[in-house]
Amino acid sequence: MLANAFFSFRRRCLGAEALERAALLHFFDEQRRDGSETELSLYEQQESREEEIYRCAACGHEITTAGERITVQEAHEHTFVNPGGYVYRIGCFRRAWGCLQAGESTDAFSWFKGCPWRYAVCGECFAHLGWSYEAAGGLFFGLILDRLSPPGDLASPGDLAR
Ligand SMILES: [Zn+2]
Repeated sequence: MLANAFFSFRRRCLGAEALERAALLHFFDEQRRDGSETELSLYEQQESREEEIYRCAACGHEITTAGERITVQEAHEHTFVNPGGYVYRIGCFRRAWGCLQAGESTDAFSWFKGCPWRYAVCGECFAHLGWSYEAAGGLFFGLILDRLSPPGDLASPGDLAR
């Protein structure tokens, strides 16, 4: 009886293991399928990273890199006028790890059709740097280009803080 229970327990474990192994194999298989592409983009990113960094113009905090630039509605750069008449020139980025998202998501006055937005602020000094948008294809950031120091700007972060 005990032996039966043991074997049944063992079978269950093996069953679970096999399932886990299958899941892992599937995972690695997925990795392998686009592995070469992933490695290449990571390598390129490391190669050119330092001079690709966009920083907060107010405090020098790293916000994103040139590699994160994307086009939305057929352009990377967009110029918008807010309801108060203020003109913003923004660039679109897939990720902006130096930003914090603030406020409730809303689609009021959204510049990108069907994309609710939140405020995006500098994670270090909380300067308003733009907005994050929820698009069908995922989150992206629209950052005010005048509030970032672009890649290739040789001024050190310390020099930018005023
Ligand atoms: Zn900042």
